[in-house]
Amino acid sequence: MTTTHSLGYPRIGARRELKFALEALWNGNSSEDTLYETAAELRKQNWQEQASLTFAPVGEFSLYDQVLDMSATLGNLPARASTREGSVLDQYFRVARGRSPNDSACCSVHAGEMTKWFDTNYHYIVPEFTADTSFNLNAERLLEQFAEACAQSVNGKPVIIGPVTYLWLGKAKDGSNPLDLLPALLPVYSELLEKLAAAGAEWVQIDEPALVTELDADWRHAFVLAYHELKTAPVKLLLTTYFGELRENLQLACELPVAGLHLDAVSAPVEVPRLADWLPAHKILSLGVINGRNIWKTDLNAALDWLEPIAQKLGDRLWLAPSCSLLHVPVDLESETTLDPEVRNWLAFARQKLQELSTLATALNEGREAVAQELTDNQCAVDSRRTSSRVHNPAVAQALSSITPEHGERKSPFSTRSRLQHERFRLPDYPTTTIGSFPQTPEIRKVRNEFRQGKLSQQDYAARIREEIAYCVEQQEALDLDVLVHGEAERNDMVEYFGEQLEGYVFSRFGWVQSYGSRCVKPPILFGDITRPNPMTVDWTRFAQSLTEKPMKGMLTGPVTILNWSFVRDDQPRRDTCLQLALAVREEVQDLEKAGVGIIQIDEAALREGLPLRQSDWNSYLEWAIEAFRICANGVEDDTQIHTHMCYSEFNDIIGAIARMDADVITIETSRSAMELLDAFKGFEYPNDIGPGVYDIHSPNIPTIEQVTDLMNKAAERIPADRLWVNPDCGLKTRRWEEVIPALEAMVSAARELRAQKQKSATPDRELAAEAQ
Ligand code: GLN
Ligand code: ZN
Repeated sequence: MTTTHSLGYPRIGARRELKFALEALWNGNSSEDTLYETAAELRKQNWQEQASLTFAPVGEFSLYDQVLDMSATLGNLPARASTREGSVLDQYFRVARGRSPNDSACCSVHAGEMTKWFDTNYHYIVPEFTADTSFNLNAERLLEQFAEACAQSVNGKPVIIGPVTYLWLGKAKDGSNPLDLLPALLPVYSELLEKLAAAGAEWVQIDEPALVTELDADWRHAFVLAYHELKTAPVKLLLTTYFGELRENLQLACELPVAGLHLDAVSAPVEVPRLADWLPAHKILSLGVINGRNIWKTDLNAALDWLEPIAQKLGDRLWLAPSCSLLHVPVDLESETTLDPEVRNWLAFARQKLQELSTLATALNEGREAVAQELTDNQCAVDSRRTSSRVHNPAVAQALSSITPEHGERKSPFSTRSRLQHERFRLPDYPTTTIGSFPQTPEIRKVRNEFRQGKLSQQDYAARIREEIAYCVEQQEALDLDVLVHGEAERNDMVEYFGEQLEGYVFSRFGWVQSYGSRCVKPPILFGDITRPNPMTVDWTRFAQSLTEKPMKGMLTGPVTILNWSFVRDDQPRRDTCLQLALAVREEVQDLEKAGVGIIQIDEAALREGLPLRQSDWNSYLEWAIEAFRICANGVEDDTQIHTHMCYSEFNDIIGAIARMDADVITIETSRSAMELLDAFKGFEYPNDIGPGVYDIHSPNIPTIEQVTDLMNKAAERIPADRLWVNPDCGLKTRRWEEVIPALEAMVSAARELRAQKQKSATPDRELAAEAQ
C-alpha cells in the first residue's frame, strides 16, 4: 500500500479567516481567545480536508510564521520580547511585529528581521543567535496541536524544522558561528522528540531544506553529527527536503540514520531513480509528486507512467506527497466561480492537489481502472491545455523565433547616448526624480474599487484619475523636481495592472497566498502566450506630459518582475515566457517613445528574487533575465532615456549582470544600508548613471537635508558626481502626502546644495579669489 501524506497546508484560510482574526486582535477589536478559536477552527477544517491522507501534518499551522514558532519551541525568542509583561502571544507578536496588541506605540521593540523562505515569496522571521544563546524546550504549542489532532481522530505527523536548517536560517548577531550552537541545540531536539513519542506520534517530519543548497564541509558535517545524535529518538524521522535537487548532498541525505527521506520529485526528477536505487532497504522514500508551488493540474497518467515501476520496486516503502508544503498555493479552486472556465479546468489549488494525490495512490494500489473516471477527466483537462489556441498563439512563437541580438542592443554606446540625452533634456547636475507612485489615498482606492464594481463609468473614472494625475504633477512642479512622474493612481499593483491588459493572463478572486504574517498576495496566473492587444500606459502618460514642460517619465514594470510575481505556466521554460513578456513590454516602450515620452522607467523590483538557490545556477538565470530586459528596453532611439529601478542594495554579487542591462539610469534602494552601496562599487566600475535612494520610504521619518547630502557625498566617492541622480528609495504609494512633501522638499534642497558645492569645487581658486575682491 502506498502511504500518502502532506507536508503542510495553507493556514490563512480559504477566505483569509486567519488574516482577519489576527488584524482584529492587533487593532484591539478582538481577544486572544477569539484568535485561538479561529485558529482551532481552521486547523479542524484543514485536517478534514486532508482526511483522505494516511498522515496529516500537525504543528505546521502557525499564527504568524513557522520559523518563529520553532524559535519559540526551542526557547530562542529574543530577550527584548520578554522585557515587559504580557502573555505568551504578546511576546510572540513583539518578535513578529515589534509590538504586542497590548503595547502602546511608544513601547515597541525592534521586530525580528524578515527574509525570504528559500526561493519562495513567503517570508520568515530570522532566528537570532549569539555565542551564548541557550535553548530551552517549550513544547506546549506542538503537544496541544497534536492532542487536538488525536481528539479529532487525525493520524497526525508532527512537523518541525530540523536542527541544522534551523541554525542555517538564523543569524548570529555577534558574528559568532551559529554552527557552534549545535551541541547545545541537539539535547532540546531529543527532548522534543521524546515528548512527541510519548504523546503517541509514530512519525515526525523533520524539515531540512538546507540540504538543497550549497553547503560547505562544516555544514555537511553538522548533518552527520545531528542525526547521529537524534537516531536514538523513540520516533521515526522523515528527513524532508524540498525546493530543489540534492546533488552533491544526495549521498549524505541517503546515509543519515533516519527512517525515511522526502524528495521534491517535481524539482528533482532526475534524482528519483538514483534515490530508489541507493536508499537503504530499511528506509522509506517519500516522493513529492504534486507541485506544491504552482497551480496547474498534474498530468496524472504521465506521473503514473514513471511512478508505477518505482512503486513496484519499493512496495510499501513508497510514500507520496506534494513536493513541499501547500502553504505556497491558494486553498480552493471551487471558490473561483467567475474564473474563465476553460482556464479553470487546467488548475488545481491545495484541495484539488490532495485529490490528485489520492487518485495517484489509488491507481498505484488498485490499478488505474479503479480511478478510470478521474484519470480520464484529468487527461481531458491536460490535453485541452496542451492544445488550446488560448495557450498557443503562432504569431507569438513567430515573434519569439525572430528575435535577433540587435533587439537587445542600443544604437550607440552610453557615452554617445548620454551626450544626446543631455542635449535633449538639459537636466542639471544631480537631477531629482521619484520612483513612480505617489500616495495611494483612501479616495483614490475608492475610485478604483467603484470603477471595478461598475459603480463608476469609464468616463467618470478617467476624469477622476486625470484629476489625481494633475494634482501629482502640480505638487512635483511646486517641489521643483526635475523629472516628473504621473503618480500611478490607476494601478492597484505593479504586476496586476499590466497582467490585466495582456492576453495570456487570468486573475483569481480568492487565490491568496501568505507572504508574511497576515499579509497575503494574489499572484496573477500566466497561462498562455503573451500578447499586448492595446497600449497600456500611453494615454495616462501622454496626458501627464501635456501638463508640464518638464520631462515626464513613463512608468512600466519589466518582464522579469512580471514573471517572478506571477504563477507561471509550466509547459515551457521560464525563459521563453519571460521573452514573450519582454516583447509585449517592448511594444509599450516603443509606443511611449512615439507618443513623445523621452524618459521611460522599467521597474525590475523582483530581478534578484528570481535567483536560483544555488549560486552555480545563477548565471543561466541572469543570462536570460538580462536578455529579456534588454529586449524590452533597448529598441529605442539614442536620445530616449531608459531608467530601471530595483528595490534592494545587495547587488554586489550581480552587479556585472545589472550593468549589462545597459539602462541609462538605474535607481536602487540604498538608504537603509549606505555602506552596502559602497561595497558594491568597490570592485566594479558601474558604467552608467545611478540614483542611490537617499531616504527610506518604508519609514514615516522625514530625512534632513544634511542626511541626504551626506549620503550623496558618500556615493560620490565611488561614482563620478556627474553620473549621480537624487531620488527616494522606492515608490511613495504607502506614504501620506503630509510625509511626502517635506521629505521631497529636503531632497530637492539637498540636490541644490550639492550642485552649489560642485560648482564651487569646479571653479578654480583664482576665480574665487577674484570674485571675493
Ligand atoms: N514604480 C513603482 C512605484 O513607484 C515601483 C515599485 C517597486 O519598486 N516596488 O510604486
Ligand atoms: Zn522599489
